Amino acid sequence: MSHTLTVQWTIEPQTAPRPWLACSRCGGQRAFVCSGKTRLNANGRRLDAWLIYRCAVCEDTWNRPIFERRTVTSVAPDALAALQSNDPAWIRQVAFDIEGLRQCTDRIEDLADSSVERRVLGGTVDSARLEIVVVARHASSPRVDRLLSAELALSRARLTKLEAAGRVTLLPESRKALQRPIRDGCRIVLDLTAEDDRAEIAQRARGGP
Ligand SMILES: [Zn+2]
Repeated sequence: MSHTLTVQWTIEPQTAPRPWLACSRCGGQRAFVCSGKTRLNANGRRLDAWLIYRCAVCEDTWNRPIFERRTVTSVAPDALAALQSNDPAWIRQVAFDIEGLRQCTDRIEDLADSSVERRVLGGTVDSARLEIVVVARHASSPRVDRLLSAELALSRARLTKLEAAGRVTLLPESRKALQRPIRDGCRIVLDLTAEDDRAEIAQRARGGP
């Protein structure tokens, strides 16, 4: 029996994080939904660019600044081209830039509905140890327990028991591993020695037939 099954999970959130802001039209704090559209405005020799959001209740717009009052030459050419063509991949990058969004509001709703793409890096399903290498390029990511329970079909109670037995580790070393948000480059290690269904768990971890 080989010792460790190593898999890589690439996590792609499906829905952009939603900022909560005061809506001037319908009043009160509201979630704003990214429209996926940008606006580029020339004001004399200066350029402004925004990503457009809409209030989840009344659809009033909020313009999130991408940049403001910039000369054409100070804007990166690829950013300018992306804005002019409404490039979906580039817009997605901005929409998922949660750190940038934090400059506009403290309250951000992170809808952790993600797709997980699996790839085997080494080992077989009869391994006693499962190591998951996480690729999460977008900051918006679920907690470790939520991810494991959804993707490995393990109950939260079972995960808690495994953690109490010292069989769940998050690397770099972290206490209360299950409650941590997933970070790009982190590794989740599960010791499945005592689990009768470890082959099934490993199968779900590696995916495929
Ligand atoms: Zn509103």
